Amino acid sequence: MTESKARNFIEEIIDGDLESGRASHVLTRFPPEPNGYLHIGHAKSICLNFGTAMKYVGQCNLRYDDTNPVKEDDEYIQSIRRDVEWLGFTPEKVLFASDYFDYMFECALKLIDKGLAYVCDLNAEQIREYRGTLTEPGKNSPCRNRSIKENKQLFLEMRDGKYADGEKVLRAKIDMASPNLNMRDPIIYRILRATHHRTGDKWLIYPMYDFAHPLGDAHEGITHSICTLEFEDHRPLYDWVVQNCDCDPAPHQYEFARLNLTRTIMSKRYLKKLVDEKFVSGWDDPRMPTISGLRRRGFTPEAIRDFCERIGVAKSNSEVDAGLLEHCVREHLGQIAPRRMAVLDPLKVVIENYEGDGETLQSENLPKNEEAGTRDIKFSREIYIERSDFMENPPGKFFRLAPGKEVRLKDAYIIKCESVIKDENGSVTELRCSCDPDSKSGGPTAGRKIKGTLHWVDAASAVPCEVRLYDYLLNEGEGDFTDRLNSESLKVLPSALIEAAGTDALVGDRFQFMRQGYFNVDPDSTPGKKVFNLIVNLKDSYKG
Ligand code: ATP
Ligand code: MG
Repeated sequence: MTESKARNFIEEIIDGDLESGRASHVLTRFPPEPNGYLHIGHAKSICLNFGTAMKYVGQCNLRYDDTNPVKEDDEYIQSIRRDVEWLGFTPEKVLFASDYFDYMFECALKLIDKGLAYVCDLNAEQIREYRGTLTEPGKNSPCRNRSIKENKQLFLEMRDGKYADGEKVLRAKIDMASPNLNMRDPIIYRILRATHHRTGDKWLIYPMYDFAHPLGDAHEGITHSICTLEFEDHRPLYDWVVQNCDCDPAPHQYEFARLNLTRTIMSKRYLKKLVDEKFVSGWDDPRMPTISGLRRRGFTPEAIRDFCERIGVAKSNSEVDAGLLEHCVREHLGQIAPRRMAVLDPLKVVIENYEGDGETLQSENLPKNEEAGTRDIKFSREIYIERSDFMENPPGKFFRLAPGKEVRLKDAYIIKCESVIKDENGSVTELRCSCDPDSKSGGPTAGRKIKGTLHWVDAASAVPCEVRLYDYLLNEGEGDFTDRLNSESLKVLPSALIEAAGTDALVGDRFQFMRQGYFNVDPDSTPGKKVFNLIVNLKDSYKG
């Protein structure tokens, strides 16, 4: 590789491996457990595994790590595949750890034959007790010195259903005094009567992650097995399994820091809780940090990949500002999302001196991009503006509409507020304005300097829609996430209005609502009423 771009530490390792001949190519894998939907943290791992393979003209497998049948589900398998592809990656192969259960069983027998594994009768609590602590060595299990013959017989009996769940386990015979607790005779097989989504009731015993993972990697010929930092202490066990099961060539494990985002929880366990307890509408609720939630919210795969690229890979854990992800989304949508005008909280304006039946004006679809063209916008005597763009008694620097003040309507006329109409409670219900008929684009007074420009919609042709505004799921602060849930993370505006050009939008289409933010069409839309999600607002709070 001659490219001069700075290398991350994974790439430096790969460069070294290719140079030394440890590897002749790059084959990585993304190994999700199908026990939930993927989240933005997984996106980092996906971008790293697939992205690194692509950089080295190698390949990346999608391997479902389905060794825990109790928590796994076909719904998750489908969603994971969809999310990986939506992010823009194509797996070389789609595989399942359960494809290798026979191979793993053979490897376990091999360890028994080598005197490197034994069947243990201690229960879970006793095993924990015997394991010792970080400061005290563990104690040998009374079963540790069983003969190879006896171990083999017992293990086969475990497979054949002679024992109850939890009655016996198979353990690797390594070192009960190892300073690394993972090396103190870890469990490698357990008895579990559970129907597996792929292998059905074939197996009553299942391999543990630390045994299954290196063997899956070896079986596929993975060259670089990239995982998160919490597995660093498991690496000696990974290497022990690979070596003693005679895996050749031997895969290697490398660890990087997980992504943590401010004001977001990431663990599937907690996300599942939000779904199960109905705090959100589902795994794809637009507030969720799941890939399917971000997709429904309107985030683009390009922006998520850009985000993953910018955060890079590091060897120490940290928390990334959620504002950076939004910054990436804003940057991408700024280039691609056509402009529309929508009024979220409408206030009626009657332009008293405007004569005739109305007219059709033009507005740019994408400023700075002429090719995107213009669209028709209707203008007539009655329009709506944003309620917050009017104040009856404004403070000094209020450049929006107020009695006796002028504003420009975007791509239309300059109007002046002449009078205010209120209901019996004193709430403003309507404004009476006049317009300067010469002030529209190209007119004699079009260049008149006016401080404020407002978005608006034409009353006759605008279409009612629902707008959903989102905020972070969690409030700022520390502590248990259930105490930090933001009860105002969803705000529904049921009577927004969008200009006519917004009505033929399809589910997933993204727009910039001028002066408001980026929005997309939610699948909850009906033929009679569109629902728009706030993707991100326009103001960039990210401070680099
Ligand atoms: P969770 O605790 O959210 O369920 P997990 O690590 O148990 O996460 P897996 O399905 O086992 O989820 O993860 C698949 C891959 O994605 C693993 O290699 C894992 O290390 C990686 N991964 C998971 N969460 C993150 C994260 N926050 N940042 C980076 N990588 C992650
Ligand atoms: Mg997991």
